[in-house]
Amino acid sequence: MSECLFCKIASKELPAEIVWEDDDILAFKDIKPVAAVHVLLIPKKHISSINDATTEDIEVLGKIQIVAAQIAKSLNIAKQGYRLVNNCGEMGGQTVFHIHYHLLGGRYFEWPPG
Ligand code: AMP
Ligand code: ZN
Repeated sequence: MSECLFCKIASKELPAEIVWEDDDILAFKDIKPVAAVHVLLIPKKHISSINDATTEDIEVLGKIQIVAAQIAKSLNIAKQGYRLVNNCGEMGGQTVFHIHYHLLGGRYFEWPPG
């Protein structure tokens, strides 16, 4: 059995507030939101970080961006704008080592980030 938190959410061993699901991707609300909209998108397949992705993962990682845009539309943040973020590794701010993309919206975000 996997010890990975997001694998457990993907297999429904742990609960989450799911906003999208298909065969390859799960999207659910972040447990500690930092914006009015804060959704995490993951491939169901375990990939630790973007450093560990291979050419086999191109399709699912590309699809995550398209699904993120669809979720943004369904949550009414598409027109006002939003941010899609992947944190990689310690200095990138990654704390859960199952690749995920943060969909953040409902407020302004600084650029460059702090
Ligand atoms: P990162 O720092 O990029 O690795 O992001 C990990 C994110 O996972 C953080 O925003 C956490 O709030 C979120 N998180 C941790 N545990 C859970 C959980 N059980 N359900 C939903 N989100 C979680
Ligand atoms: Zn995992």
